[in-house]
Amino acid sequence: METVNNVSDSTLAEKDRKHLWHHISPYNEKQDPMVVTEASGSWITDSEGKKYLDAMSGLWCVNVGYGREELANAAYEQLKKMAYYPLTQSHEPAILLAEKLNEWLEDDYVIFFSNSGSDANEVAFKVTRQYHAQNGEPNRFKFIARYRGYHGSSMGALSATGQSQRKYKYEPLVSGFLHVRPPDNYRRPEGQTVEQFNLECAADIEQKIIWEGKESIAGVIMEPAITGGGILVPHPVYVKKVEEICKKHGVLLIIDEVICGFGRTGKKFGFQNYDIKPDIVTMAKGITSGYLPLSATAVKKEVYEKFKNSSEYDHFRHINTFGGNPAACAVALKNLELMEKENLVDRSRQLGERLKEELEELKDHPNVGDIRSLGFLMGIELVKDKDTREPAPPSLLSSIIGDCKSRGLIIGKNGDTVAGHNNILALSPPLSCTDEDFEFIV
Ligand code: PLP
Repeated sequence: METVNNVSDSTLAEKDRKHLWHHISPYNEKQDPMVVTEASGSWITDSEGKKYLDAMSGLWCVNVGYGREELANAAYEQLKKMAYYPLTQSHEPAILLAEKLNEWLEDDYVIFFSNSGSDANEVAFKVTRQYHAQNGEPNRFKFIARYRGYHGSSMGALSATGQSQRKYKYEPLVSGFLHVRPPDNYRRPEGQTVEQFNLECAADIEQKIIWEGKESIAGVIMEPAITGGGILVPHPVYVKKVEEICKKHGVLLIIDEVICGFGRTGKKFGFQNYDIKPDIVTMAKGITSGYLPLSATAVKKEVYEKFKNSSEYDHFRHINTFGGNPAACAVALKNLELMEKENLVDRSRQLGERLKEELEELKDHPNVGDIRSLGFLMGIELVKDKDTREPAPPSLLSSIIGDCKSRGLIIGKNGDTVAGHNNILALSPPLSCTDEDFEFIV
């Protein structure tokens, strides 16, 4: 088969092996790359013409589905009208998008635009450290994050990440990032209720703050539910307690919504499942449904106010060339408009509930240890032995993923290979998934 550029499939594969370094993949020479050439709705097509339902929405981002002309047109119109101007000044798409994000956040934030989820978290860390300095507490520089959480690939965001497999080749990283255990309810100690266990995990954060000296702690960063680290959905008491602890000790709460935002968890933002008010919210991926690179760091007005008296020389010294690109903002605005028009946040919740019901019978399978979900985001934890909960070997997951692929379904794999628990299958389909697509997944 020939592609749009009239290059044959075998030539493309050859050129790929020669010139391209794939993300987070083993050495390329031996790989047989899947070259994706077209995509529409929930489906992608490879260069051999084979179709797959993409139940991972690319990298958890194509929330409104592929091939939406409205988004292509929004980019086209904006690029014609005004392709670029930096946000050292301003432009209409960024202003309108910042206003729209505040509507979705249901509170008063100022929005700093960047390009990726990692960028958005770097901004959050820098704002947090400077906020404390502006507030007369310059020694607050440490962040507490959770093991198994992922916050990005740049050095600061990787430091916050709690997955050793992604870090051990690149250390030493940025100092001041500490980790505590996340609530992994499936693996809680015997005899504890989920609620007790979650309160105990939250108490770990307070203990860490006290042991480290609270005057040294700047922020806590967490995803509403850990996604890439194995779909770990906390009990509401955990999230509420963490917020309370942060307030008590003057620590800012940063919520990473890079995957959970924009309807994925059945709410506009994941934290809205838990009735909390974060100081900083970071977001990317679903903001444009992946159509163009864009991310945002939403900073609570009260935090921003502390920068009011910064001088000409000690204001927030952060800039990036492409952050808040006008076409990306225009696409994001149109993307949110589509999500509202098509009620995709509600649909996420409904499809998530339906998927949970449909997959209920899998629970009896000897290798299925746990099934957990929040909105249209699901993890299936595979074990070798249900009683001991010993993780299933990677070969079992690879064979299931391979089987699904050969039947035309792309699903994901989660966890931490180095820590010995890379045993969770992940599903995160487009929220625009039709009923027929849904049946196909099931
Ligand atoms: N935070 C979370 C929760 C993520 O899942 C990711 C990426 O998968 C990031 C941050 C980093 O985003 P990016 O890959 O856009 O830098």
